[in-house]
Amino acid sequence: MKIICIGRNYVDHAKELKNPVPKKPLVFMKPPSALLVNNKPLYYPEFTKDLHYEAEIVLKISKNGRHVQPEFASKYYSKIGFGIDFTARDVQSKLKEKGHPWEIAKGFDGSAGLSEFIPIKDLNDPNAVEFRLTQNGENVQIGNTKDLIFSFDYLITYVSQFFKLQQGDLIYTGTPAGVGPVAIGDKLEGFISTKKGEIKMLKCNIK
Ligand code: ZN
Repeated sequence: MKIICIGRNYVDHAKELKNPVPKKPLVFMKPPSALLVNNKPLYYPEFTKDLHYEAEIVLKISKNGRHVQPEFASKYYSKIGFGIDFTARDVQSKLKEKGHPWEIAKGFDGSAGLSEFIPIKDLNDPNAVEFRLTQNGENVQIGNTKDLIFSFDYLITYVSQFFKLQQGDLIYTGTPAGVGPVAIGDKLEGFISTKKGEIKMLKCNIK
């Protein structure tokens, strides 16, 4: 199982970190050991002083495929989840300056917060998924996947040119504007809007 992540996939977020808006998806990975599931807490890592949340919709790959053609892309995922791409922003900034890989800033243990999954058919519109993250009860990120630069289907087609998609793989599809730091004691909660109303998908306490 692999965890594929997309950076800078919302214009507003690319701008808030003063990054250019990409012309192709920016792809990186986290190891399976990064997963943080079952609403477990995240222990603030010692190597960072600027740990950030990034709320993201996560696709769960439902069948194997390489070089997936655009017209079939939607057949490769049938469920989505709520994810938090935890990022050691200070470590990432230093690595970016040097042009070095990001892995230690993005792939550390617990850096891939993940909820349970809900079926795509439960969504009002799979191309306009509304989601939000709260920090201690206050909205900090409000996103809608209609604002994605590269859609779910585009990402499936793009990523599968390089990496064979395998059942159970995850794609973190990028974060909207509003990323920010967390502190020990914070309570993060993630929500997704569905046909049945808004569902609380995930909670994560920072310890
Ligand atoms: Zn991210």
